[in-house]
Amino acid sequence: MSALQDLIAAQKAKYQGGNLGNAFKIPEGKTKIRLLQKNDGEKFWHDVGVHWIKASIGGKVQAVVGCDDVTYDKPCKICTAIDLAKSRAMDAEEEALIKEWMRRKMVLVPGLVRSGDKASAVPVIIELTPTTFGNILSVAEEYSSAGVNMFSEKDGMDFVIERRGKGLDTEYTVMAAAKSDPVPAGTIDKLPDIDAYIRSQYFKGEEQKALNVIAQATGHSMAGIGVASVAGMLTNAKAEGADDEFATAATTTAKAAPAAKPVVETEIASESEIDDLMKELEDIG
Ligand SMILES: [Zn+2]
Repeated sequence: MSALQDLIAAQKAKYQGGNLGNAFKIPEGKTKIRLLQKNDGEKFWHDVGVHWIKASIGGKVQAVVGCDDVTYDKPCKICTAIDLAKSRAMDAEEEALIKEWMRRKMVLVPGLVRSGDKASAVPVIIELTPTTFGNILSVAEEYSSAGVNMFSEKDGMDFVIERRGKGLDTEYTVMAAAKSDPVPAGTIDKLPDIDAYIRSQYFKGEEQKALNVIAQATGHSMAGIGVASVAGMLTNAKAEGADDEFATAATTTAKAAPAAKPVVETEIASESEIDDLMKELEDIG
């Protein structure tokens, strides 16, 4: 590569999180990947939790909000609102919708895609289910006991991940590759900025919108409760008597805003989006 191409590749990698595309998701079949750890002994992966908030089951995603709890180990307002909604759910349909709002966990890891049509020498962010990444760590631990760091740029090894099935039946098998390709020198300095990627994808200021959708979609119990009230309710959620106050407010305002049922969505989420959500259901927690 010329110096200019090198520079462009480096810049592309640097801004991958901010401007470019999505993380690489393991497609069906076998995919060879290499995971890269910049500094020995450093935690090089990121745990992320995401709430996909819809107004109705099968409806379009209205707000995508990262879960502060899973991602940053801070209290998550959306989780609190969901817990509250759950405690007030009136029927199975409402419970099913609330379940869809729950955070889906994923693990983001920097690495190279080695096979398939996305194969490239430019490092990307690879998205894995927590179970898959747990299995990767188990394999890596085994090799580590024999003195091999599978995540090393120089002496590491490739993994083969096999994805089988669809939706809730999706299964991932992890194994060490029989043969590992070398990593181009300097790749480790071009790893994408996963923190920036997480901020740009999942913390883009849709929290209020999500709380609003939750308040409206839960109909009878939350109809007419404004965002401000929800925020206040969340702050007081643990206070004694807060529930009673809230119930009163709900009764008073429900008449003014009879939004008992969410408006039917005409826009349907894309097939792949549904598929992604379905496959991530296994990682609710
Ligand atoms: Zn959360």
